[in-house]
Amino acid sequence: MPIDLHAHTTASDGTFSPRGLVEHAKELGLRAVAVSDHDTIFGWREALEVERELGVEVVPAIELSVSDENGKFHVLGFFPTRTDLNETELGAQITELQRERDERNTRIYENLARMGVPVDPRRVREIAGGGAQIGRPHIARALIELGHATSVQDAFDQYLDANGPAYSGKKGLTPSHAVKLIHEAGGLAVWAHPTRSPSERAEVLDFSRGEALLRLWLDWGLDGLETFYGAYSPEEAEWTRAMSEKYDLLGTGGSDFHGATKPNVPLGQVNGATEVPDEVLAHLTARAASSKSSMK
Ligand code: AMP
Ligand code: FE
Ligand code: FE
Ligand code: ZN
Repeated sequence: MPIDLHAHTTASDGTFSPRGLVEHAKELGLRAVAVSDHDTIFGWREALEVERELGVEVVPAIELSVSDENGKFHVLGFFPTRTDLNETELGAQITELQRERDERNTRIYENLARMGVPVDPRRVREIAGGGAQIGRPHIARALIELGHATSVQDAFDQYLDANGPAYSGKKGLTPSHAVKLIHEAGGLAVWAHPTRSPSERAEVLDFSRGEALLRLWLDWGLDGLETFYGAYSPEEAEWTRAMSEKYDLLGTGGSDFHGATKPNVPLGQVNGATEVPDEVLAHLTARAASSKSSMK
């Protein structure tokens, strides 16, 4: 049975609740699904609570936004051997990331107001589902409601993407620091959609530059590469597979499902229309267990 190791919930910018995501995975016949929200583990508890009831394995994960002099990247942390992140330095850093995000959102609201398209932060919070983390896709949906954009993509193109007039960045972690924090917390670090780095870009990275960057990640102790991904072309799928083989990296994969935020990305489908094989999770779990025993 197939699996999906990259999915978002209402804990970040997905539109399915953690429970709803696991239910959807069950409907699709998936054996396992990762809850890999941006910069938060808020969705883990609810998803893990329904794991038994629904008979779908939940893999606790996080997708950290990181940056350094080479650009912006996403790194996935997987925690198949269960850990209480609140007790770790990674947990403390996640709290700091939330604070930076709140300040960044305030600057975006100010920029939009200055441009004559004010959005109400309270409405954005409602759209985000109350207590959850607020991201640009939620601000995008508020802009659509107000008639200033026709789709989430249009809102990014007009206002919110990294070159957009309302954009404001946040500091975040460096890739090397993120890998270290994930390891200290007992997790495995995977460079997410490497060919789509910098992380905001739709076009594909030059592969020779990609390999040079990958060597840096290897020095930092990277465990894996996302070798299956919702939006990969055959060339990207082949390059990531070849790189993971060449450098003995774990190959993981998932759709990057966001529900209605990315309506063209269905759960469980990668590299066009194929599925992530079950054995990927077995490899992940085995490597997590062996790195844990070697740390002792
Ligand atoms: P934030 O974490 O608030 O900065 O928002 C980042 C999220 O916005 C990403 O994970 C994507 O889901 C989405 N996003 C970022 N850049 C774009 C873009 N250019 N077009 C559409 N969605 C984007
Ligand atoms: Fe997202
Ligand atoms: Fe990502
Ligand atoms: Zn993602």
